[in-house]
Amino acid sequence: MIVLIKGLYIHLPFCKQICSYCDFSKLVAKRELKEAYLLALQKELEFRKPLLEGIETVYLGGGTPSCLETPLFKMLLKMISRLKAMSKVVEFTIEANPEDIDIEKVDLMLDAGVTRISLGVQTFALEILEKMQREGGFDTVSQAVRLLREKGFVDINIDMIYGYPGQNLQIIANDLRFLLGLEPDHVSYYSLILEARTILSHLVKNKVVTMPLEDDVCDQSELVVQTLETHGYNRYEISNFAREGHEARHNRLYWQLQEYLGIGLKAASQFDNHRYVNPLKISEYISEVNMHGVPKQTIETLEPEKELVILGLRLREGIELSAFEKRFLVPLFKVFPGLEQHLDNGLLELTKSHLRFTKRGFDLANQVYLAVI
Ligand code: SF4
Repeated sequence: MIVLIKGLYIHLPFCKQICSYCDFSKLVAKRELKEAYLLALQKELEFRKPLLEGIETVYLGGGTPSCLETPLFKMLLKMISRLKAMSKVVEFTIEANPEDIDIEKVDLMLDAGVTRISLGVQTFALEILEKMQREGGFDTVSQAVRLLREKGFVDINIDMIYGYPGQNLQIIANDLRFLLGLEPDHVSYYSLILEARTILSHLVKNKVVTMPLEDDVCDQSELVVQTLETHGYNRYEISNFAREGHEARHNRLYWQLQEYLGIGLKAASQFDNHRYVNPLKISEYISEVNMHGVPKQTIETLEPEKELVILGLRLREGIELSAFEKRFLVPLFKVFPGLEQHLDNGLLELTKSHLRFTKRGFDLANQVYLAVI
């Protein structure tokens, strides 16, 4: 079997502090554990090298890769940049928190061939940042953006959140004003999802904090979409907005159900109609890689037709009908006849080549997904 992996995801699970809403795979760790993890990462990367020859994108996420101490950050970037496959990579993204950005780290990223920075900002409102248990604020973010620009970084994404308890239309309007003032090329604006086993879910369960009403969250969403679109950001995916030519390439692999390889703790890979997931416990991950060069993975069977529809509809252009039929040898509406009713009720529409959400459908996506699951 020939596997053509197009994207590489590398997971760095460390953070300086744990944010109240976060359910990602992350931990606050001592330097020795970070070093042991990086050595394991290097081994896994070495083992997987034969699969990486065709990669076009690299995404270093977490956790917060930028929070590593500078010598460890250097070690991490070096192990990636010296991969032979990097010569063909057109997009190399790193997630970073604005407060970690300094001249030394920016230089290291430039030397390693990083092309795109994704800054975790979430909000500029200090009272909300405090509730989220995050650092940041406008001065910190604008200083980071200025430094990145001075050094020549063009592609900057800013990650934002709406729907957090305490946020209201006024706060979101201020966030948007600060955001637009920074002129990022790309914005990911997520509606907060209350995840189980987070500090926030504990507070909500104990009635210390109340989640905002659904109508208020819808108003915030409308304000975000309208403001960003008015200012030249194309909503090319449900939660992602970009200026022309600045859409993220790596994430498109996920939305189009293409092949990618994940390295590191809890990282998922996808190829051959299966999803392979690395161990969830760091001690297990490190010891297995040290013993075998790769960790033991959990294998999940995909339902590719279903996943492609759910993920592909997230994109503004939707799903290419001929590509679906070529891939699965059956027309899309034959597999999911229930989708036709949403053409009639105006949530879906057909273009010459694609099936996609209408503007209204984008906001009522869950109703459409019921026809697929
Ligand atoms: S949101 Fe980011 S910085 Fe905060 S705990 Fe999660 S991964 Fe770490």
